[in-house]
Amino acid sequence: MSFASLGLSKPVLQAISEQNYQIPTAIQKQAIPAILSGKDVMAAAQTGTGKTAGFALPVLQRLSKGNAASSNMARALIMVPTRELAIQVAESVSIYASHLSLRSAVVYGGVKINPQMMRLRKGVDILVATPGRLMDLYQQNAVRFDQLEVLVLDEADRMLDMGFIEDIKNILNLLPGRRQNLMFSATFSDAIRELAKGLMHNPVELSVTPRNTAAKTVEQWVYPVDKKSKPALLKHLIHDQQWEQALVFTKTKQAADKLTRYLIADGMKAAAIHGDKSQSVRSRVLGEFKNGTVKILIATDIAARGLDIDQLPQVVNFDLPKVSEDYVHRIGRTGRAGTTGHALSLVSADEVKYLNDIENLIGKLLKRKLIDGFEPQHDVPATHLSDKPKKPKKPKKPKKPKSTELNQASHNNKKSEARQKKKLGGNAKSENNARNTHKSRNRTRS
Ligand code: AMP
Repeated sequence: MSFASLGLSKPVLQAISEQNYQIPTAIQKQAIPAILSGKDVMAAAQTGTGKTAGFALPVLQRLSKGNAASSNMARALIMVPTRELAIQVAESVSIYASHLSLRSAVVYGGVKINPQMMRLRKGVDILVATPGRLMDLYQQNAVRFDQLEVLVLDEADRMLDMGFIEDIKNILNLLPGRRQNLMFSATFSDAIRELAKGLMHNPVELSVTPRNTAAKTVEQWVYPVDKKSKPALLKHLIHDQQWEQALVFTKTKQAADKLTRYLIADGMKAAAIHGDKSQSVRSRVLGEFKNGTVKILIATDIAARGLDIDQLPQVVNFDLPKVSEDYVHRIGRTGRAGTTGHALSLVSADEVKYLNDIENLIGKLLKRKLIDGFEPQHDVPATHLSDKPKKPKKPKKPKKPKSTELNQASHNNKKSEARQKKKLGGNAKSENNARNTHKSRNRTRS
């Protein structure tokens, strides 16, 4: 099946062919015609499936037909959980819209709000936003939704995990009733269904990868090891297997920094990316990882969410995540768009419960490998699948201008944002607050 057969217009097809996309991915095959027909769509699709183009291409085509946005208006709103994902989605939108006369902007917290307000002044066809900053902008009259035609909630599960539900509900109350709603989520919890129920009208339901399964192209291994030996084992694997690049997940920011220092001391080009790093540092580090200057990127879950790095060969769980679904999100960074990837987990005895939960979630036991010299003294007990493995729940019925100008505000200015919030005194929640909510929730769980 070709992209042309999906009903896409010439300028959109031209942009795709410049990206060298040969055939549509599974989600694109299903989502593009459904969205072009004007229907609401609710899709279970994880990062790496090509979902961004799946919604962006038909939305851009729709927007290319109507009237341009008036000042401070947005015609399509794409809400995403993190700054990194906002930047990435906006970049994709910009690429896909390169042959259309559409204006777009991206807004997120942790940077000055004023340039974003300026950008919105003339109105935009597509606005990519994180919920906290969007509410701030609304409260300052910088954005209006009277002309909104399409709402996209991307990575809806993660937005709820991050504590954005109130901001999202507040924003939904501001939107005109007649609009197209598109919701993408890797997982469909009861909370997501509840949100969808109040949002979707007879949605087309799509599911490309069964929930909570990794792409088949990802080889997954567990390396049993004592906790204290994990840094040395990681170093050994990097050297022994001659990794070109790897994304390594740690549980905490402190652990990420400590591990980074350890690898740098060994002469490796390593860097950390997490919520305590300023936006400008995060953007720079990500750029350096993408261009290969940084070989080992060490990240926490939230900072890494949505990172799109082409053909990342290795993803390492230095610590297993407590929330099993994060495992699926993490390893979704490798084996993308048909390439083969490796997902390795260094598992110590105290993490066996997390391992067991993950295996039950994905419905299979992970293969184990012992490395000479790193055999654990504290045994990692065998795990078992429970009789009733968790079944993937299907989503239920509610259920540039020419060159798109991305908002390039790149300097972290937490102080100014804090001042803005103080001035507002309202209930708008910043992305940082949301992260803290997430963090404290995880702590409660543990
Ligand atoms: P996403 O799931 O939207 O994060 O996309 C994952 C990656 O797949 C991105 O790097 C896209 O550029 C790439 N991609 C999206 N659609 C296609 C396609 N039809 N053919 C090849 N690569 C694609």
